[in-house]
Amino acid sequence: MSDEQAGSTRDDSDPLAEAFTYDGGRIDPGETANIRYGISETYLGDPVRIPVTVINGEQPGPTVFLSAAAHGDELNGIEVVREVAHDWDHSELHGTLVCLPVMNVPGFLAQERYLPIYDRDLNRSFPGREGSTSARRMAHRIFTNFIEPCDLGIDFHTSTRGRTNMLHVRAKVDDRLVNRLARAFSSNVIIAGEGPSGTLRREATAAGVPTITVEMGKAHRFQRRLIDRALTGVASVLAEFGLHRESSVHWPGWRTVIDDENEKTWLRADAGGIVDMKHGRGAFVRAGEVICSITNPFKEEDDIVSVEAPFTGLIVGVLENPVVYPGNPLCHLVGLSEVTRTALERERTETSSRSELHSTGEDFDDDSAD
Ligand SMILES: [Zn+2]
Repeated sequence: MSDEQAGSTRDDSDPLAEAFTYDGGRIDPGETANIRYGISETYLGDPVRIPVTVINGEQPGPTVFLSAAAHGDELNGIEVVREVAHDWDHSELHGTLVCLPVMNVPGFLAQERYLPIYDRDLNRSFPGREGSTSARRMAHRIFTNFIEPCDLGIDFHTSTRGRTNMLHVRAKVDDRLVNRLARAFSSNVIIAGEGPSGTLRREATAAGVPTITVEMGKAHRFQRRLIDRALTGVASVLAEFGLHRESSVHWPGWRTVIDDENEKTWLRADAGGIVDMKHGRGAFVRAGEVICSITNPFKEEDDIVSVEAPFTGLIVGVLENPVVYPGNPLCHLVGLSEVTRTALERERTETSSRSELHSTGEDFDDDSAD
């Protein structure tokens, strides 16, 4: 734990701040640029342009990208990146921030996860390729100009439509720098793994740019509490890597890294019907506890299917749209060590004694603000 609380690490090996360059453009130290960068063309032949803000500090330091909306309907990250880019004071910045709040502009305009028409997944298309599909060409323009020049990156996502996630980090923790980055973000939960082929975090990491994914909440919403938590994570990362030397690294109070040692499962429905979910994201459930029941308009009390927790753990992701076919996911449950369980229960007891609002789990209640 000592390295997580050690504060900023200084790297003064490079005495001069450098310009950030992309595709013929240049942002010198001390400059900020708001760029609309063309990555494709519409049916009318007009450019499809993504917003990019590059903030180059006067002092030398690492180059870090913050990206969101690779899935066009995942909005929480857009607000995180926007606030970092435009509301924060970067006058003492050591290094460069490359802010990409909306990567999948066609999906964002349509409020859809995928690139419209061919339903291509931009976040399975990295690092992209010239002369390939529309998605890969867009990915290539983004990757070569704004990802490859960076030293680190954070890509923000939410759950898929109809479900919600507690805030957590996904990271290839067996990579030393990725692990340091994941821990610096200071989430309670880190899920280990390199991620599917074509995802920005996996391909950026493979290309030498250690990158984590942050999952937070649900699509189509701004969820203020999660956004604030993510902003704390970004500030902590910028402190850890010496970009903001006046800030300090945040410790989340307890942390669990979910790897192959941990029990984890997506619980799936074995009956079609309407789901009465008893717990929200971030809830702690004991083995045998009822997580939800599945019913339909004709079912008698006896026919109701109860779904119980197969082991004691934490609900990281959960269904919100309460209808299922057999086989549809109900919740993502991860097992916790005894030590983590104790820490989590202590935190929740302390929190609930301070405020009744917080007693149901991570931030189960913040959906009332949506
Ligand atoms: Zn996503």
